[in-house]
Amino acid sequence: MMKISSKLLSIIRQNKSFLIVCHINPEGDAIGSILALAYGLKILGKKDVCVLSRDGVPETLKFLPSSKTIKQTPPKKVFDVLCIVDCNTLERTGFKDLKARNTIIIDHHILPDDADKSELYRKLSASVIDPEAAAAGMLIYRLLTSLKIPIDKNIATNLYTALLVDTGGFHYSNVSPESLAIASHLVEAGARPWDITKELYESVPLKRMELLGLSLSTLDSKDRIAWIITTMDMLKKTGTTAEDTEDFVEFPRKIKEIEAAVFLREDNIDLFKISLRSKGRVNVEKVAKSFGGGGHAAAAGCRIKGTLQEVQNKVFKAIRKELRIK
Ligand code: 5GP
Ligand code: MN
Repeated sequence: MMKISSKLLSIIRQNKSFLIVCHINPEGDAIGSILALAYGLKILGKKDVCVLSRDGVPETLKFLPSSKTIKQTPPKKVFDVLCIVDCNTLERTGFKDLKARNTIIIDHHILPDDADKSELYRKLSASVIDPEAAAAGMLIYRLLTSLKIPIDKNIATNLYTALLVDTGGFHYSNVSPESLAIASHLVEAGARPWDITKELYESVPLKRMELLGLSLSTLDSKDRIAWIITTMDMLKKTGTTAEDTEDFVEFPRKIKEIEAAVFLREDNIDLFKISLRSKGRVNVEKVAKSFGGGGHAAAAGCRIKGTLQEVQNKVFKAIRKELRIK
């Protein structure tokens, strides 16, 4: 894994106030990483640390130590350092103008093609952007240990959650000796795997299961692509929200012989959130990028306007192109 630059370390050591922000619709890696970084900075003696998530904290992550400290709007002041975590554009944070004297990015997503043209990159003071890292939490771990910050139980719980979520419970192709070694250290440092698993995966509200049932009834497949759909009507019927669909894309992926899984969520009339997963042959990041989204080769997402039929046609065509099926 990438080394943390001495420039990044000195920016952290030398400054006093920090604004830490993650991406919209945050999951365990985003929330766990920003909370762990905030804990680390407090241990370093930084008193002015603000943790920000535009969409707050999903219900399933409220057990994380200090999750209550997360703010949804930034304070009106200029911080010394803005830390953008688990994403690499301002757009993904959901905030237009977050101002700070220094900006750093700690992320594991592939950079957009036009990154070098954007103002954010020109202003960047330092960064660690490592698409090889299984989770942003791995990079936070590396940063904290490089700063000689001891990993306590609170940091360990947040970072273990980050790793667990972004490796799909240590299932995915991004699991490596290093991610397992870090997980092992986090457990030694006080993270409790079963307690965390129970909170994340064994506390599903009944209405969410009902939503899954409705969504799974749309399951279909063609050309080694399998998909399921959640409509606004299904959310309404079950009293659930978009947040409740977090892992739905995992279900079509389980099917034997498929190469790509697609989850289509109707977020508004003629607007769909698309989640893409690959078993290895298709680079779904390329597919998502062609629609203005992004992510990783095996897991990516985007938003597309159009009717369900139009959106499906566009997405499936782009995947078939990657799979070289005409
Ligand atoms: P999910 O499908 O679970 O929302 O996201 C899968 C991966 O793609 C995550 O790493 C997430 O950060 C990224 N991703 C999802 N939606 C978008 C999007 O609209 N834009 C970008 N750049 N990345 C996305
Ligand atoms: Mn992540």
